[in-house]
Amino acid sequence: MQFADFQGRAESQVHDKDIFADAQRYAYEYMDRVAAMDVFPSPESLALLDAFSGPMPDGPGLPQDIIKMLHDAGSPNTVAQTGGRYFGFVNGGAAPAGIAAKWLADVWDQNAALYVMSPIASKLEEVCEQWVVDLLGLPAGTAAGFVSGSSTANLCGLAVARNVLLGKYGWDAGLRGLAGAPPIRVVAGEQAHASVGKALALLGIGASTIEIVPTDDQGRMRPDAVPPLDSTTLLILQAGNVSGGAFDPVDELCDLAHEAGAWVHVDGAFGLWAAACERTRHLTRGIEKADSWAVDAHKTLNAPYDCGIVLCKDRQFLADALQSTGSYLEFSDHRDGMLYTPEMSRPARSVALWATLKSLGRSGVDTLIGHLCQMTRRFADGLARHGFIIDNEVVFNQILVRCQQADDTVRLLDRIQASGRCWCGGAVRNGEPVIRISVCSWRTTSDDVDECVELFAECL
Ligand SMILES: *Cc1c(COP(=O)(O)O)cnc(C)c1O
Repeated sequence: MQFADFQGRAESQVHDKDIFADAQRYAYEYMDRVAAMDVFPSPESLALLDAFSGPMPDGPGLPQDIIKMLHDAGSPNTVAQTGGRYFGFVNGGAAPAGIAAKWLADVWDQNAALYVMSPIASKLEEVCEQWVVDLLGLPAGTAAGFVSGSSTANLCGLAVARNVLLGKYGWDAGLRGLAGAPPIRVVAGEQAHASVGKALALLGIGASTIEIVPTDDQGRMRPDAVPPLDSTTLLILQAGNVSGGAFDPVDELCDLAHEAGAWVHVDGAFGLWAAACERTRHLTRGIEKADSWAVDAHKTLNAPYDCGIVLCKDRQFLADALQSTGSYLEFSDHRDGMLYTPEMSRPARSVALWATLKSLGRSGVDTLIGHLCQMTRRFADGLARHGFIIDNEVVFNQILVRCQQADDTVRLLDRIQASGRCWCGGAVRNGEPVIRISVCSWRTTSDDVDECVELFAECL
C-alpha cells in the first residue's frame, strides 16, 4: 500500500463509527445469548476456528469484515464464563459496570504509567487503592500496585520481601544482585499455588531451597509444623486454597512470624475478598498483620479480566523493589502508577475496577460474596443429596466432589465437560480424582445450580 493510500484510508476511518456500531451490535447479541449457549464450544463450533488459520495476509483487510469474522467464528468459540453455569478453575464473571467502563477506557487507550500520561488513570488508582485497602481491612496507608493478575502480584510482593530481608544484612539486591548474597529463608505451605513457585524461581529462589510446611486435610498450613522462623525468613501464606478454598490460620501464623521478625506475604487471589463480607470475614482473621498481599479483582469481585492487585504495608518498600529511572521519565506530585508495578506502559486497569467498586458499594460487595457462598452451599447440598461425596469443608466458593468409584468420577467429568450445559475442571486429591466446582459469577442463580446438580445426576 502506498503512503497516500494509507493516509487516505486513515482519514476516512477517523469519523467512521460503523465498525464500533457493528462491534456493539455483536456484543449485545452475545450478551443476550451467553446464558443459553454451550458453556464450552461444541465440535461443530470448534471447526469454525479453521477460518483463522492461514498466512499473514499480503494486504490490508476491511475492518467491518474483520469484526464480523470475530463475531461469526470467534464468539461461538468462547467459553461462556459470563453465563451462570461455568464453574471452572477460579474464573470470575464480569459485572456490567466494569465491562462498560472498560469499553470506554479502551476507546481512551490510556497509558497508566505516569500521571502525565493519564491524570484520570492516576486519580482512579489513588481512589481504588484507598477503597480496596479499606474494604479488606488492611492497615491505613497500605500501597497498591495495579497489575495483570495475582501471578504478577505474587511476583511483586515476593520481590519486595526478598529485597527487604536481604536489606537487613545491608545487602542491596537491586544494586548487587543475588550472586554472593547472604542467605534468606523461604517457608511455604505444601499446597501453595503454582504461581508462587514460579514467582520465586523468577526471583532467583529455587524450588529445592523452599522449606515446605505440611498441610492438614483441607490444605491449610499446620502451625505446629512450621519450622522455627527468624528475621531473615519469608513466610508465604494462602487465603483461599485454589482447590478446596481453605484458608491458612493467618492470625496465628502472623503472630509466630512477627515474634521472629519474619516477613509474611499472603496469596489471597480470590480468598482475600472474604474479608469484605460479614459472613466470611472470620476466615481471614488476622490478615491485616501480614506485610504484603496479592489479590485479584477479576475473580471473586467480578471485575473484568486484567485486574490484579499487589498490596504492601510499606509504600516505600514496594516502590523501591519496582523502581526504574530514566532521564525522560517525568514523575509528578500525583500518583505515578508505574512506581508500584513491574510494567511501564500498561492499560488503565483502575477504570474498570473503580466502576465495579462504585457500582457495588460496600453493601454490594458483601452481597456478591454472600451470594457466591450461598450458591456454593446449595450446589454442595444438592450433590450430597444425590449421593455424591463432598470431599472438602465447603467454607467459601469451592467444592471438591467425587463418586464412590474413581472411574465413575473421571467418566462423570468427561460427560459434564462434553454436555455444553455446565463446565467444571478436575484435580487429584489424596490420589483420587475429584471434580472442582468454583462458584465465581454474579450470574449464577439457584436455577443454574439446580440444573447443574440434575446434570451431575443424569451424567452419572
Ligand atoms: C488464580 C490464582 C493465582 C494466580 O492469579 P492470576 O490472576 O491467574 O495470575 C494465584 N493464587 C491463587 C490462590 C489463585 O487462585
